[in-house]
Amino acid sequence: MVLKAQAPADGAVLGSFEETPVTEAGQIYENSREAQHSWAALSTVQRLSYLKRFRHVLVDLQEEIADIIAASTGKTKTDALTTEVMGAADALKHVEKEAPSLMSNEKVKTPIHFAGKASYINRKPRGSVLIVSPWNFPFQLAVSPVAEALAAGNTVILKPSEDTPMVGELLRRLSSLFPEHVLQVVMGDADLGEALTSEDPDFIHFTGSVSTGRKIQEKAAQKLIPTILELGGKDTMTVFEDANLQRAAKAAVWGSFHNSGQVCLSTERVLVQAGIYDSFLSEVKQEAAKLRQGKDIDADIGSMTTRRQYEHVKEQVQDALDQGAILETGRAPGDWDDSNLFIEPVILTNIKPSMALWSVETFGPLMPIRAFETEEEAAALANDTEYGLGGSVFTSDISRAERFTGRMKTGNMNINEVLVSVANFYLPYGGVKNSGIGKYHGRDGIRSFCIETSVLADKGTEDSEIIWYPNAGKYDLFLDMISNFWGRRRNWKSFIQSYMSLNKL
Ligand code: NAD
Repeated sequence: MVLKAQAPADGAVLGSFEETPVTEAGQIYENSREAQHSWAALSTVQRLSYLKRFRHVLVDLQEEIADIIAASTGKTKTDALTTEVMGAADALKHVEKEAPSLMSNEKVKTPIHFAGKASYINRKPRGSVLIVSPWNFPFQLAVSPVAEALAAGNTVILKPSEDTPMVGELLRRLSSLFPEHVLQVVMGDADLGEALTSEDPDFIHFTGSVSTGRKIQEKAAQKLIPTILELGGKDTMTVFEDANLQRAAKAAVWGSFHNSGQVCLSTERVLVQAGIYDSFLSEVKQEAAKLRQGKDIDADIGSMTTRRQYEHVKEQVQDALDQGAILETGRAPGDWDDSNLFIEPVILTNIKPSMALWSVETFGPLMPIRAFETEEEAAALANDTEYGLGGSVFTSDISRAERFTGRMKTGNMNINEVLVSVANFYLPYGGVKNSGIGKYHGRDGIRSFCIETSVLADKGTEDSEIIWYPNAGKYDLFLDMISNFWGRRRNWKSFIQSYMSLNKL
């Protein structure tokens, strides 16, 4: 069986790639587990030297990589360079910087009743990790979790999306920079993903749709396999009357239309305070009119990546128009050129909650705008979704921005910014509600790929401990101990003398 790669922009055949037979899933794990022993035996610094080499090769090949990504996804080459190549290089560099301290034993406090002892957290790799990645950022969203998992001493089985096999093939080529079977890149669709999930990975990192996330979680739950699920979103941008209007309008256009809206953190709904509604609408329309769609390096927006996604967006726009939405920018679906996958950015007003675009992830270049009166109303509207990935708020009143951010039930927020919180690798990243489980990036990132062992250590010089047998004669001391350590002090001096004689301080 082969995976065929077609350029989404014009349907040109890019190549075909051998699928990994589903029957090989068992052998892939055997190889992975065997390689893991020697990979984990290396020091963190030794493992990072491979990641550094990987980063240098990636930067040396940046143009070739951007070309492959742009051809496979339909995104512009400039976008491929900034959000995919730059994002991956930054993810690697962050891991290289932070892994040594994050992987060292972490000292924690030891309370007085454990006086003389020490406590720390020891971290080690989980083992063989399965990483399943999507097609919208097929390079960055694979490299980033792979870097964290490998730095922690795991071996990785990476299954990239079958919709962008040429990027999968590129990742497979790059995997040869690591010792054999440390990073195995397999090629296939949902059947292969399912077979790999069934083979008892020690951890699963999944990025993709809610429906696939659920299937993976159900399977993982049966064997208590820990997971991180990075799923879909329905992010809202909220613009208050005191916002920098031009900045907010430009941000809305970039946030909604970047990568043709195929971004999990895409701005999928814009709420604008009534007093500036008309001027904001006129500003976003002007900004949208300036956008250039195409394939050259100066183009702002490329095409959709898959026919499936193109049809989904088309249905949502038609459904909204059927229910009375007003088309402010773009074309009605009847006028779309179905011979390719370019969608001219669409701005809609007169939005109703019954429209699919209000509740279902769009993942396309569509900006629905709705007015609100009060902060209370805006918070309720923004939280009115089963998703909880990200969002943004625009206002010149920073205390309002912080208050509003505090009310958002989302895993990520941007203040007077849009989308980019995910690009600061010092911030943990992940969604709440139906947008996912767990976090990567930040301190949590590398550590999520570790088993944590909590250690309490004694020097071992004393023959016994106060709490050990025998109990006889200690009851009153324990009463005193509870009072003195956790309640009101009583007979402190005599308590501390008996405590010290029994439990050398
Ligand atoms: P998808 O769920 O269709 O596929 C994702 C991956 O899962 C692919 O590699 C696919 O082959 C694999 N897969 C499918 N069925 C499987 C199964 N039963 N078992 C194991 N693997 C299986 O998602 P997609 O269409 O590729 O990606 C788009 C979705 O991803 C959107 O909803 C988007 O919001 C979400 N996404 C989320 C984030 C995030 O960080 N939260 C980032 C990017 C994309």
